[in-house]
Amino acid sequence: MARRRVDHLLIGGGLAAANCARWLREEGADGSVLLVGREPDPPYNRPPLSKGYLQGRESREEVLFRPDDWWREQEIELMIRTSVMKLDASERVATLSTKDEIEFDKALVATGSNVRRLRVDGCDLDGIHYLRAFANSDAIREEGDRAERIVLIGGSYISTEVAASLTWAHDVKCSIVMLENVTLEQFYGARVGGFFQGVLEDHGIGVYGGQELDRFEGSDGRVSKVVTKSGLELECDAVVIGAGVLPDTTLAKHAGLELGEAGGVRCSSGLESSVPGIFAAGDICEYDSPIHGRPMRIEHWDVAFNQGKTAALNMLGRGVEHDVVPYFFSDLADWSWMEYVGPGSGDTVVRGSLEDGDFTAFYVDDGRVTAALTVGRSDDLEEARRFIVGRDSVDPAALADEGTDLASL
Ligand SMILES: Cc1cc2nc3c(=O)[nH]c(=O)nc-3n(C[C@H](O)[C@H](O)[C@H](O)COP(=O)(O)OP(=O)(O)OC[C@H]3O[C@@H](n4cnc5c(N)ncnc54)[C@H](O)[C@@H]3O)c2cc1C
Repeated sequence: MARRRVDHLLIGGGLAAANCARWLREEGADGSVLLVGREPDPPYNRPPLSKGYLQGRESREEVLFRPDDWWREQEIELMIRTSVMKLDASERVATLSTKDEIEFDKALVATGSNVRRLRVDGCDLDGIHYLRAFANSDAIREEGDRAERIVLIGGSYISTEVAASLTWAHDVKCSIVMLENVTLEQFYGARVGGFFQGVLEDHGIGVYGGQELDRFEGSDGRVSKVVTKSGLELECDAVVIGAGVLPDTTLAKHAGLELGEAGGVRCSSGLESSVPGIFAAGDICEYDSPIHGRPMRIEHWDVAFNQGKTAALNMLGRGVEHDVVPYFFSDLADWSWMEYVGPGSGDTVVRGSLEDGDFTAFYVDDGRVTAALTVGRSDDLEEARRFIVGRDSVDPAALADEGTDLASL
């Protein structure tokens, strides 16, 4: 067992930690930076795992956060296949799975999320997959090469994107089984969710809403059928489950960091946890959002990316608030590309045409724009950001009226 000291310890090998490392160096940190991650791969971007990488259009190298040489050039020490087993927040020492002990000056906890697992009969059969890491995407891609029918469980972005990718690139007959009545309804409402469901159905994907999974059946140890509580039975060669994620706060909790109501690590607007000098970023970070005026925890790529930067700046004592409007993107193969700023809810006000797949939906609550989603009109999101930050009242009729310049509102 060796004990040594670093200036900056970054825990978790995901995007938040990687971008924090990058910004520490870009902002002139000359002390030692150690990034410890549990996975076998250096930090990479997860969105392609359900999109370009799964479709075979993006290579592993393209998906990596940075090429392998970059870490050496930046003098950032990367320990992969290594877990932080214990974080002693008062002594400021982390114990690694290698048994090494790392004393640190500042630390970032960015341990991300784990998939939510469904414990139903047959859940241990072969051919049932979740998607979080490179190896999961590789395994689903292999299924895509040999399967004729794949069932996706869940009506959110993982299931819809994977169904689109498997159909587009692998010519698999896909079916989506979900609790929601309409795909993506819980995030974007039934009207906009219905647009995306229409895109999927137009490309031959079967969508079964209002269905609760009862069990999986199999033959020779491999899944062959999905059965729902209402009696729907779908034959299949494989299953992919996208039933949401849970923030991995195990380490933070045992270290005594305060947790918030949304299940994340409770942080200030500068992403500092309840223990001074220990920051959090990404999926686990529940921060006081100066934009929303309340604590927020958001599981988006862009949020992890930007929070990594804010945390780096504040580890260097800059005292900045995380005041970026959260942004999300998703695509369904080549069929549709959407972008979203929020998160928020309210009445859906549509500008443009859902039928033509060229629209922006504004979510208006008590006269205020809280979120917006666009297909084909990225420029509208700039205006939506302005509305969200300003928290001013906006006339819904003017939002919907294509003759009104959004910039004038
Ligand atoms: C398939 C897929 C597609 C996605 N597509 C989109 C998209 O289109 N748009 C979008 O906005 N978002 C998307 N996301 C979400 C986005 O990728 C995540 O929000 C983002 O990756 C979160 O980054 P993070 O660094 O907080 O956590 P993670 O990426 O989860 O990284 C955390 C890392 O910490 C490691 N770790 C945990 N505990 C320890 C420990 N004790 N010691 C060491 N290491 C530890 C974990 O193994 C993991 O590697 C997608 C996610 C997935 C899985």
